[in-house]
Amino acid sequence: MDETKDPKRYQLDTQNTRGSSASLSLLIAVRKCYKHRPEGNEHSAIAVSPEKHIREIQRCCAKADDYLLPDTPIKEAVFRVMVAGGNKPVTAEAVSADLSARWEVSTYPRDLSTRVVERVLANGQNYFIHELPEPEPESQLVRRAPAEAKADDEA
Ligand SMILES: [Zn+2]
Repeated sequence: MDETKDPKRYQLDTQNTRGSSASLSLLIAVRKCYKHRPEGNEHSAIAVSPEKHIREIQRCCAKADDYLLPDTPIKEAVFRVMVAGGNKPVTAEAVSADLSARWEVSTYPRDLSTRVVERVLANGQNYFIHELPEPEPESQLVRRAPAEAKADDEA
């Protein structure tokens, strides 16, 4: 058995590559604080990209006291943690640690173990949560040096 296997990483599919008929923009927008919550009809929220909604939540709404209350259902909480983190790829372990730290002093006893969070992540398609393909260690390190493009001008 290979015990050194990397943990699975998950991310919100902001490009909607699975062709869901739901709108991730709307899903995120309605979780904003009262100041940023979209007014009027939902079309204005859908017209804004998920990334833009995520940035706004990161800057403001995620810092509100009621963004992640201790009685938030686990699936909802995992989604909110991912949005608050700017939709960087997450592991079940990281999300579990985040929630455990947030709710350390909570009076609600919850099972926030990695195993529970992993199950939520693996079944989070209706929240646009999808597993990322295994990273290729080599290709991640390759970065084009900005100076390279200029070399031609020097002749
Ligand atoms: Zn806000």
